[in-house]
Amino acid sequence: MRKKIVAGNWKMNNDFDQTLSLVNELKECKNYKDVSVMISPAYPFLKTSVDLLENSSIEVVSQNMHQKKEGAYTGEVSPGMLKSIGVSRTLIGHSERRAYFNEGDEVLLEKIELALSSGLSIIFCFGEELSDRKSNKHFQVVKSQLDNTVLKIDKDSWGKIILAYEPVWAIGTGETASPEQAQEMHEFVRNCVFEKYDNSISENISILYGGSVKPSNADEIFSKKDVDGGLIGGASLSAKDFNLIVEANSSL
Ligand code: PEP
Repeated sequence: MRKKIVAGNWKMNNDFDQTLSLVNELKECKNYKDVSVMISPAYPFLKTSVDLLENSSIEVVSQNMHQKKEGAYTGEVSPGMLKSIGVSRTLIGHSERRAYFNEGDEVLLEKIELALSSGLSIIFCFGEELSDRKSNKHFQVVKSQLDNTVLKIDKDSWGKIILAYEPVWAIGTGETASPEQAQEMHEFVRNCVFEKYDNSISENISILYGGSVKPSNADEIFSKKDVDGGLIGGASLSAKDFNLIVEANSSL
């Protein structure tokens, strides 16, 4: 069964006190039993968030990890470190990591392989830039991003993978892909997974949409049959808005 998921990516926002307040506010929100809720605070606050959410159904996810197990990589964080503080999932391939930290397919594949072999689950992000869409190359670009990374992973690991389609032109811009554009790409992605593996994997994989999702557009986007939820940036910094988005993905 495909899982419905709403995950909040807090990026480099919120200091310690703000993180505590937001986590505590979210803890008080209604629990929609058919939607898995995840939040992704910054590295220094992961452990506190894990502790605060110990008896809640909200999962704490890392925004990133390094591609090497350990060693002389000043400023970096390994999957083993994340596991040791109770984090068992990480984002990989967010467009801001690709754009500002030069993370390309090769490094992303290393990260995916190390995460999975270290026992972490992943949310793998991908998506085309505006120029790709304008030149009608968006399917080709997305296919290549997937072929060079997650589609190289063997079948047995797919229970630990969530996909997040995030068209770069819609992230933090206020511009959202139309529900039809999201559905069309999600269906395409599911088919890429089917062609590489089989129906049991493609039908069970959760594919999230990310890019300026807010309470006012979440319902329509989540109503599409291949959209299993959302990866939310800006709107996840408000407990009220984030909770409305979670509610929009629930059928209860
Ligand atoms: C994101 O950063 O993953 C994202 C989708 O951001 P926003 O919702 O702000 O567009």
